[in-house]
Amino acid sequence: MPLYSLLPGFLCGYQHNSCPSAFLAVRLQQQGNNIPPPAKYGGRHTVTLIPGDGIGPELLNHVKEVFRFSCVPVDFEVVHVNSALESEDDINNAITAIRRNGVALKGNIETNHTMAPSVKSRNNLLRTSLDLYANVMHCQSLPGVQTRHKNIDIMIIRENTEGEYSSLEHESVSGVVECLKIITRNNSLRIADYAFRLAREKGRSRVTAVHKANIMKLGDGLFLQCCREVASGYPDITFDSMIVDNTTMQLVSKPQQFDVMVMPNLYGNVVSNVCAGLVGGPGLVPGANYGRDYAVFETATRNTGKSIAGRNIANPTAMLLAGCMMLDHLRLYDYASMIRNAILTTMNETRLHTADIGGQGTTSEVVQSIMRNIQSKGPLTTDL
Ligand code: ATP
Repeated sequence: MPLYSLLPGFLCGYQHNSCPSAFLAVRLQQQGNNIPPPAKYGGRHTVTLIPGDGIGPELLNHVKEVFRFSCVPVDFEVVHVNSALESEDDINNAITAIRRNGVALKGNIETNHTMAPSVKSRNNLLRTSLDLYANVMHCQSLPGVQTRHKNIDIMIIRENTEGEYSSLEHESVSGVVECLKIITRNNSLRIADYAFRLAREKGRSRVTAVHKANIMKLGDGLFLQCCREVASGYPDITFDSMIVDNTTMQLVSKPQQFDVMVMPNLYGNVVSNVCAGLVGGPGLVPGANYGRDYAVFETATRNTGKSIAGRNIANPTAMLLAGCMMLDHLRLYDYASMIRNAILTTMNETRLHTADIGGQGTTSEVVQSIMRNIQSKGPLTTDL
């Protein structure tokens, strides 16, 4: 048995009396098979934390607070990116830090579209530089949240490195802009395979490719063809396809018909925002960006929320759940489910709901309640 599981005060890197839920580590250890897997650097993981703009810094402070309270063996290396600067030095430093640590949790970095066209989105640079090719969002109906549609359970797999996000635009003839959408066979096969593998791993039965191949016959046609080719290697999973405009209509009319969805970059952006709206909004759904070597976690709809920043009204759920996805990635499953279950318990307390989901609760009230639930219940078994 690893020494750190016997020494909760040391496990979480704090003096016993300054770690309010140190007893939880003991409880995890007492459950026998719930011993955390080996971590790095003396039993602890180092993760890059990019606060970003708007509500990012305050939400990530709450993640740190909940992790510290739960004695999660993770240290954060904080890297700030100043979105007002035209130089790419900040984002390159952040990328270097992620290459070093392998994993990051981030707030959204503002992209001011009045800046020169040569100033690229920092968020996009980060994803393409690290080849984080798969954006994954699991959109589920949540307990206690009033929504028009119930029983939604959709996994959205979005190609994250090319398509309409190539940043290849030019105006060679005045008044005529060409904006290139890049679809490659390699990256389409790669994302399709990711979607089918995930579907199989999660016991899902159907994958739907979203496209506009009736208009973009070559570009989206290639994407669709690649999905078909990959599907032939997964006879246990049903494959179908749907044109993107019909998809958005079907989503808002009968979202329960969808299981796993795979699509190029921009459709992924639109569809994930529609789906987040269906289950309660941008404050609730976490997202992940995976590549072969690195993983970066953030809220699914990647909002900055500048107008609500610093007012203690942002919903912390999506960012905390992104933190839980990150803990799963680090194979700290028990910590992830302990925090996730506390979040779900708090969601059932409608009096604590923040304004975005119809309540008057504050961010810190929600976080306090989550920590009370962690302390009172410890690890539960239900998974989100
Ligand atoms: P602003 O950044 O000024 O809020 P925006 O149009 O850029 O405006 P986004 O950041 O894209 O807004 O967010 C879209 C909407 O979702 C905004 O109304 C924002 O306040 C809201 N929103 C985003 N995240 C959260 C959250 N965690 N809690 C509550 N509301 C949120």
